[in-house]
Amino acid sequence: MDMSVTIGERPESIRRATKIYAAFLIAGFALSPVALIAYLYFFQDPALKFENHLFHEIAIAGATIEGLFVAYVSWRCYLSSGEPLLRWLTLGFLGFTLIYAPHGAFTGMAHHNIWLFLLYGPASRLAMSILLLIGLLSFNQEPDTPEQRVNPRPWLAWIAVFLVVDVAVAILAYSPIASSPAVRLAMEGGALLFSAVDLSLMLIGRIRSPLMTVFGISIALFGLSSLAFILGKPWNHMWWLAHAIFAGGFFILSYGIIKAFHTTRSFANIYNQEEMVNRLAMAMVRTESALQELQRSNQMLEHLASTDPLTGASNRRHFIERVDAEIARAKRDDLSFAMLALDLDNFKAINDRYGHQVGDQVLQGFVQKCSEEIRPYDSVARMGGEEFMVLLPQATMELAVTIGERIRQATENAVFESILVPKLILTVSIGVSQFGQDGTTIDTIFRAADERLYRAKDQGRNCVITV
Ligand code: GH3
Ligand code: MG
Ligand code: MG
Repeated sequence: MDMSVTIGERPESIRRATKIYAAFLIAGFALSPVALIAYLYFFQDPALKFENHLFHEIAIAGATIEGLFVAYVSWRCYLSSGEPLLRWLTLGFLGFTLIYAPHGAFTGMAHHNIWLFLLYGPASRLAMSILLLIGLLSFNQEPDTPEQRVNPRPWLAWIAVFLVVDVAVAILAYSPIASSPAVRLAMEGGALLFSAVDLSLMLIGRIRSPLMTVFGISIALFGLSSLAFILGKPWNHMWWLAHAIFAGGFFILSYGIIKAFHTTRSFANIYNQEEMVNRLAMAMVRTESALQELQRSNQMLEHLASTDPLTGASNRRHFIERVDAEIARAKRDDLSFAMLALDLDNFKAINDRYGHQVGDQVLQGFVQKCSEEIRPYDSVARMGGEEFMVLLPQATMELAVTIGERIRQATENAVFESILVPKLILTVSIGVSQFGQDGTTIDTIFRAADERLYRAKDQGRNCVITV
């Protein structure tokens, strides 16, 4: 609940300023390789080389394993959300990996045919940038149906396409045009161009979910790595830097995929912290009101379970609970209490004369009268039929008799306004018992009150009996 207060108190101007600052930070981070590229370009001797085949092979092997793994995780996300973007991301990773792997495998061929070694790099980046661009264009499109998601045919077709590209690159590498710088430049420049188009689309389209921010950063890094590859020469420092920049982009995009896998398995949906915080706050409000509703209905249920529906007095079960509690209290604090057993006189006759419905109304009116004559902390219970009991906490026998007498008189003099029977005569017989004097268990005090009630009936009814 405090959460909503914090959101409310954040001034709009600071909110906007921090948002702009955050955008600058992201852009600054995404473009930071520009500084490294510029440094090497202006200050480093382009002829300096680090030609280490084993290192290169290990790095490409690592990239291949990582590429396959992240393609698999993307595919799992796609299976779950069906998002076309995730389908294209999976294909992007897969295509990149399948076309890039020969670049590592043919490291040893660098001196035999440098193009066979070199051209797989730009080809893989070009393929990936095209697939990512198509993916971006599919952002927020309807998810694929579950049947479409599990259909293996398009995947096999794409794998075939990637393998065909592998063969095509090999053929190209052995063709006379391979040595033309235009070939490599076209592929690398294409990758750079598609990355630039991607970023522009994201900025124009105002695509702002945090995962898409991650996507944007990786695209920027891929574009910058292509720039570094264009400026570099095989094995020189710019060339290695280009690898590192590309790896950075690959890492951060993989990170986004893993994040998606652990949350919504979607790049477009919900995964926006602000929206999530708002949803959480709303969910908490709903939970709170549901809880209150539950408490209300619990109270209602408790009331229903403890009262007599006709008269609203306590029912037998609840009354016995109360007496039990009172006995415990009396024992603990060395107190006393009293109780009254009441039975309406000749009630059968009232029923017979006026009907059962009037009888019911008389029962309600009697409970009403009773409640008016007792103290606030006393309680009336309907034990069944026209038999009632009153619990009088901390009352002496004397006080109990006084209250019993008040009830008896009030009943005798009662005018039941709500009942359309002008001269209905109602009386009640009452037996009184006291905790301590008449015993200390529920049975003994109940029995004492009952015996005295019978005695009251015997003695002609309409009286209060204490012995
Ligand atoms: P007594 O003075 O000896 O107590 O006579 P009585 O007629 O009150 O005694 P008895 O116990 O024989 O009759 C009780 C009557 O109360 C019988 C029954 O019809 C009536 N009664 C019990 N429960 C209800 C009820 O819920 N509504 C109505 N209208 N009558 C009830
Ligand atoms: Mg009776
Ligand atoms: Mg009775």
